[in-house]
Amino acid sequence: MLPEKDPRKQGEKDPKEDPSVTLFREYLRIKTVQPEPDYDTAVKFLERIASELDLPCQKVEVCPGRVITILTWKGTKPQLRSILLNSHTDVVPVFEEFWHHDPFAAFKDSEGNIFARGAQDMKCVSIQYIEAIRRLKAEGRRFPRTIHMSFVPDEEIGGYKGMQMFVKRPEFATLNVGFALDEGLANPTDTFTVFYGEKCPWWIKVKVEGNPGHGSRFIENTAAEKMHRVITSFLEFREREKQRLKSEKHLTLGDVTSLNLTMLNGGISFNVVPSEMSAAFDIRIPPTVDLKAFEEQVTAWCRAAGEGVTYEFHQKYTDQSMTSTEESDPWWKAFSTTCRNMNMKLKCEIFPAATDSRYIRAAGHPAIGFSPMNRTPVLLHDHNEFLNEQVFLRGIEIYAQLISALANVPQLQAEA
Ligand SMILES: [Zn+2]
Repeated sequence: MLPEKDPRKQGEKDPKEDPSVTLFREYLRIKTVQPEPDYDTAVKFLERIASELDLPCQKVEVCPGRVITILTWKGTKPQLRSILLNSHTDVVPVFEEFWHHDPFAAFKDSEGNIFARGAQDMKCVSIQYIEAIRRLKAEGRRFPRTIHMSFVPDEEIGGYKGMQMFVKRPEFATLNVGFALDEGLANPTDTFTVFYGEKCPWWIKVKVEGNPGHGSRFIENTAAEKMHRVITSFLEFREREKQRLKSEKHLTLGDVTSLNLTMLNGGISFNVVPSEMSAAFDIRIPPTVDLKAFEEQVTAWCRAAGEGVTYEFHQKYTDQSMTSTEESDPWWKAFSTTCRNMNMKLKCEIFPAATDSRYIRAAGHPAIGFSPMNRTPVLLHDHNEFLNEQVFLRGIEIYAQLISALANVPQLQAEA
């Protein structure tokens, strides 16, 4: 990391800076970085925002030290289903030596690029929600539907002590969610990417048993031979999916099954043929794939590798709910029409990894993953993550329009 000379990194206020940008940079400086996020400071920050916006702030501790913070703007017809604006407060770790600026200083360069962990994933979105609501309130607007902003912990480590627990709580049911927005990804072109579904992560450990013996002999049926067959089957499938993605131009990463061998274990000594080995695979399956058939394929690969080959799941997500992107769907119609009116080009995709949206969808609520960052390289989890302040500020305007449209969606048949 280079020494920092710019006083702006110290958090001094620039009178020419848009106050929304200043607030964004303040939030970026809170070290909610895994594995020990400073959630207390983040919750205090959000409580301050709630009092600024004159909104009630509810805190739900889903397990010790893990608080969901909810700011609520009550609608004029609160019996209607609500709009949930969700964002996570944690960020992934950094390798400081690869950063040109302190990743928690929110340094802004002369072009307006703000460098910080969380600039894209996803502290930008949290502040954009807040600033859009602030703007709408200042304009004196009111909407029939209630709007909730939820700020959740631990998304970056799977959401198990965050959104996954929250959706099962009575406090979540009370929110009466009709439609949710959550994070998406940047897009380097003029287009905005919109996610209507997610892949199912499957983490599989294959265990292989074989005959042990001395390393100088040709032992029959060794664990290594069986492991060789297992790895070949899995990686040949990987190659086929990789080639399919390459050759079929309309496909994105969200449309094919990704598979990686991520851990390999076994053996104790150079001259001992081991009796056991294991291989771990990270597999991400699109919601259009028949999961039962896919598991049968995994079973077949293991059986074909020989006796004593078994597998176990370390993660097996099976909910394949997708959110409608049909114009006949009132939520999608409100979302897409608003974007069209703002001349935004949209590209609908399946999210290639996993986010908290999957818990919202599994709980039965439509959710769209969307972070308004076009003309921005995808740098989440990468070094030197940044967002340009102009892209950030336009996102506030986009959310103000989207929130207005969604919170104005007329009463649905199901709500009658
Ligand atoms: Zn994220």
